[in-house]
Amino acid sequence: NKAQEQDKKVVVAGCVPQAQPRMDYLKGLSIIGVQQIDRVVEVVDEAVKGHSVRLLGQKKDNGKRLGGARLDLPKIRKNPLIEIISINTGCLNACTYCKTKHARGDLASYPVEELVERARQSFQEGVCEIWLTSEDTGAYGKDIGTDLPTLLWRLVEEIPEGAMLRLGMTNPPYILEHLEEMSKILNHPRVYAFLHVPVQSASDSVLMDMKREYCADDFRRVADFLKDKVPGITIATDIICGFPGETDADFQETCDLVKEYRFPSLFINQFYPRPGTPAAKMTQVPAQVKKQRTKELSTLFHSYNPYHHKIGETQLVLVTEESFDSQYYVAHNKYYEQVLVPKRSEFKGKMIEVEIFEAGKHFLKGRPLDGSEVFTPSIAEPLQQGEVSGLSQVTYSIRLCLCLLCQLLLEPQR
Ligand code: SF4
Repeated sequence: NKAQEQDKKVVVAGCVPQAQPRMDYLKGLSIIGVQQIDRVVEVVDEAVKGHSVRLLGQKKDNGKRLGGARLDLPKIRKNPLIEIISINTGCLNACTYCKTKHARGDLASYPVEELVERARQSFQEGVCEIWLTSEDTGAYGKDIGTDLPTLLWRLVEEIPEGAMLRLGMTNPPYILEHLEEMSKILNHPRVYAFLHVPVQSASDSVLMDMKREYCADDFRRVADFLKDKVPGITIATDIICGFPGETDADFQETCDLVKEYRFPSLFINQFYPRPGTPAAKMTQVPAQVKKQRTKELSTLFHSYNPYHHKIGETQLVLVTEESFDSQYYVAHNKYYEQVLVPKRSEFKGKMIEVEIFEAGKHFLKGRPLDGSEVFTPSIAEPLQQGEVSGLSQVTYSIRLCLCLLCQLLLEPQR
């Protein structure tokens, strides 16, 4: 509205207009859907000429729906050090509260070789960190006869020394099939020991109403197995407070899960019914109750601090970003814990060794060690499947010792 008031041309892109292009606020505006991003130049050209264009079609290949845009499209990265690769679009679920599914549809995975090529090219362009994303990375490959561990083993061969790979969100059901392999991959020195597994609720009856297709014990199996096999791993999760039908007892089960795992990174969402979803038609929990539960969970989250015991540790961290207040550079250690380091230009994009001297709720602060080696990403020697050494074996041993001393990371609460 503001842009239009200023007589600017507007193009609306992404899932929301794709799912509901007839909403009032979109009237007369140009829209580009999730599978048409490669035609953005046409849409902008037309919008500039004052025309309203809507490209919302679903691409098909031999009748099969294709997923997102081509992987080799030209790209300007928001952060030139980080490449974000979507490994698949859509998912295999039908969660009753979800709007994304309406826009993204069923699972459509990119072929392994295309993803490997994208990663290889990114490293050649100076990237030092790759994030793999999707609605559900655990489901990757089920539609094309492959799976997530196969992709990850191919990708780790491409990660140069001094660079890292971060895996995105996975729902519990599909990752359960791959726990053994996933634990080996997450122990790889060039892969962050970090997994985002959204539990949403610890009540089986709420999970059933959400149609999440797992029970709380499935989540526990994933978390317990990985915590056992990947020492120090960070398990981040999401929780929805006040889903329709959630009783006080259901909510208590969720609080108990948080007390049990003390998630360092917890995304708390107060339930909001997305129009057109099955959950919007269910009997809603009163707004006051939803608010109260969200507050209670948030207080619980802020009642613990899993970082203090890390003070004094020596850690290898990869510097990729700048802090919001521009005072520090932001780096991450093996567990994808946020470590603030001094803003020295020679650190950007490098792996450095620091001593942790301060810990807050959401961060650690690290002091660079004098004379420690600085790793600059370089094209790596291919690794064999199952091989754990990417830096030196000595470095790996040191990291493993730190893992045993460490627990979990904290990230800003959403
Ligand atoms: S919330 Fe459920 S339906 Fe929606 S994208 Fe995630 S897994 Fe798919």
